[in-house]
Amino acid sequence: MGEGQALHKSTRVLAAAMLLAGTTLHAQPVEPTATSQVRILATGGTIAGKGNAAGTSYRSGAVSVDDLIAALPGVDKIARVTGEQIANVPSSDMDETIWRKLHARALEAFADPDVAGVVVTHGTDTLEETAFLLSLILPPTKPVVVVGAMRPSTAVSADGPQNMLDAIRVVTSPASSGRGVMVVLNDTIFDPRSVTKFDVNRVEAFTAPSRGPIGHVLGLAPRYFGPPQPQPEMLALGEAKLPRIAVVYAYAGQTEDEVRDIVRNADGVIVAGVGAGGVSSGARKALRALADKNIPMVTTPRQGHGDIRRSEPTPAAKSDDDDRVPTIGGRELTPAKARILLMLALQQRRTFAELQAIFDRAGTTN
Ligand code: ASP
Repeated sequence: MGEGQALHKSTRVLAAAMLLAGTTLHAQPVEPTATSQVRILATGGTIAGKGNAAGTSYRSGAVSVDDLIAALPGVDKIARVTGEQIANVPSSDMDETIWRKLHARALEAFADPDVAGVVVTHGTDTLEETAFLLSLILPPTKPVVVVGAMRPSTAVSADGPQNMLDAIRVVTSPASSGRGVMVVLNDTIFDPRSVTKFDVNRVEAFTAPSRGPIGHVLGLAPRYFGPPQPQPEMLALGEAKLPRIAVVYAYAGQTEDEVRDIVRNADGVIVAGVGAGGVSSGARKALRALADKNIPMVTTPRQGHGDIRRSEPTPAAKSDDDDRVPTIGGRELTPAKARILLMLALQQRRTFAELQAIFDRAGTTN
């Protein structure tokens, strides 16, 4: 059995045990103990931004992890916090190198029996991509909270310190056992599969349009709305460079050439389609050429909200009657999250049916 398979199996057993225990765990939030250790892995973003007091002009990723921790009043009464600067970038610059470092450092923290869990500080713009990625490649053995802020650290009423304290409270709470990776902002706890940033200005920037949040942080502890959900199937982060996935954003009148330019040299394609995943007739011609070359394509809604299933032409239909291109259904994932899942899934050679099965399992929550 390979390392990835072994990890996957033991994780499933553990997740099942945690799930059984979950009904009692979620009911009674327990006060955290100040002896728990929490590892902060800092990557930058507005939460580490510095600028004017109005918060209108600032530079992301300018404050160190030590300064972020120093700005948390009373944190020593919640946990012993240690920090590591993984990167200090605006989250639009998050990349494979940083993801790999985060993954490795989180696994090291998991292996330390003194560590209760991990908090990742992150820019909000692509926070949901990193949170979803980590939820697929980390075992749910310890809680991981990905946290950001909408106002820089120097703003009047900066939201970063409160969000970080909440994240530390979530990580150290026994009620968080078996919940794996979560996102915490603005007193609200989200599942990484369903969360998305929907407002680019306000503190209430995140939502989970289909499913809603999974809990709130009220006072000193998380209050979950239900027991832990089954964790998504773990995927191995192989050593090979992640494949190149192109994203085709569909719009009215998109031409074949416009799509051809975007998908050139792609190992896989995410279609952010109109409505329930539609594309123009020009785009369809370009995508059909890719299907003929067996390039896997995943359909998602460009609105980022809905459930899209596998699409295949009906066998008996002539192409004029049914000119659908065979695509994997991205289920409830946004185009950006579907890209993450396809990158990981394509690290191993997979058939169309296997890819669809992976999207069916990881692309929805129960
Ligand atoms: N531009 C910032 C980033 O994602 C936005 C934020 O953190 O809110 O890094």
